[in-house]
Amino acid sequence: MLRFDQLSYWEREQYLVGNTFVIVGAGLVGMSTALSLHERFPNEKITVLERAYLPTGASTKNAGFTCFGSPSELQDDLQHIPAEKVWQTIELRLSGLELLRKRIGAPAMHYRNCGSWDLIGTQEPPIDSGFIAELNAQFKMRFDLDEVYQEDPHFQQKFGFNGYQAAYFNRHEGSIDTGKMIAQLYQQCVAAGIQFLFATEVIQWMASANDVIVETTHGELTAQHLFLCTNGFAQAHFPDELRPARAQVLVTKPLAHRIKGTFHSDRGYYYFRDVGQRILLGGGRHLDFQTETSTAFEKNERIRAALLHKLKEEILPGQAFEIDYEWSGIMCVGAEKKPIIRSLNKNVHAGVRMGGMGVAIGSAVGAALSKLV
Ligand SMILES: Cc1cc2nc3c(=O)[nH]c(=O)nc-3n(C[C@H](O)[C@H](O)[C@H](O)COP(=O)(O)OP(=O)(O)OC[C@H]3O[C@@H](n4cnc5c(N)ncnc54)[C@H](O)[C@@H]3O)c2cc1C
Repeated sequence: MLRFDQLSYWEREQYLVGNTFVIVGAGLVGMSTALSLHERFPNEKITVLERAYLPTGASTKNAGFTCFGSPSELQDDLQHIPAEKVWQTIELRLSGLELLRKRIGAPAMHYRNCGSWDLIGTQEPPIDSGFIAELNAQFKMRFDLDEVYQEDPHFQQKFGFNGYQAAYFNRHEGSIDTGKMIAQLYQQCVAAGIQFLFATEVIQWMASANDVIVETTHGELTAQHLFLCTNGFAQAHFPDELRPARAQVLVTKPLAHRIKGTFHSDRGYYYFRDVGQRILLGGGRHLDFQTETSTAFEKNERIRAALLHKLKEEILPGQAFEIDYEWSGIMCVGAEKKPIIRSLNKNVHAGVRMGGMGVAIGSAVGAALSKLV
């Protein structure tokens, strides 16, 4: 591939010279940041650098849940994280979802207001009805959302699952087509004049008083501000605050089923949904945390076996199915679930650690990052 210093006058003037904002990472957060920066500074030149030919982390590999928290996950969070931080994170998720819907429009990303169910396994401790009532009261008080969680006594007959004792329905969650969502963001960026250099990896950067020199695999370029939107690949910059978290997904071949909606179980560690006639199932990272702290796009056979077992015994009991697609993606987690939105110095800013909820939170992170300059 040509190095930057071999490019023509036209190429260098168009892509490398005069960038006000350079963004590293063309995932949901990178593109949302670019759009929010363009909204605030419509005349400034913005370029996104992406190391792969597609965004290659989590944004095109996720399950497409527009989720902001299930009761079993929130119960777990509230035991480990100060309550105010938990609610601040939920607020970011809700505002991110609102911005995403406003920006893209529900039909363009195939948004379905199908609701979600949090399934409680027969071996798990039941969730106290007082806790559900308290969650609902908090959602009403803080966000004016009515009756977020309700027990669904009919889930068993509706879906034919096996191995669950209860289900809590959340009518405010839904699903999207992840591919459509990211393609729409990209089209909006291009329409706004935001430039992309794909297959361009950022190796390092050096900030001076007024700008940042960005070293890439093809040479250097300069920006007034650099935004790191590299999520699970940002550990070098935040060694104590975040780590990569691999997540695995299986999708069946089309089959006759009666599952409609989005479902979580085991504190959100498992998730599944219908994709037309197919079932998508992901998760299981908690079975092998250590191995899954990885940026390698590989399979974990132990987790794969657990996912297959779940499909066979619990989700599609007594029904034959075949797997058509499987992949892994890289998320980013830390001791806290709240994302890091921070300036590292006057000219370098980071929006990372989306947890497993970047679809919800990513647009809000982009908007917040754009306000750091
Ligand atoms: C299997 C799976 C299921 C999920 N399901 C859901 C869900 O249902 N709902 C939900 O809300 N969230 C879900 N998530 C999480 C969500 O997808 C992420 O939180 C979100 O996509 C993160 O977006 P991002 O832009 O921060 O990171 P990414 O999408 O990972 O983007 C970072 C980009 O930076 C690029 N990059 C990294 N280093 C460099 C470098 N040095 N130079 C140039 N480019 C670089 C990468 O190639 C990548 O494209 C899921 C994630 C996975 C993996």
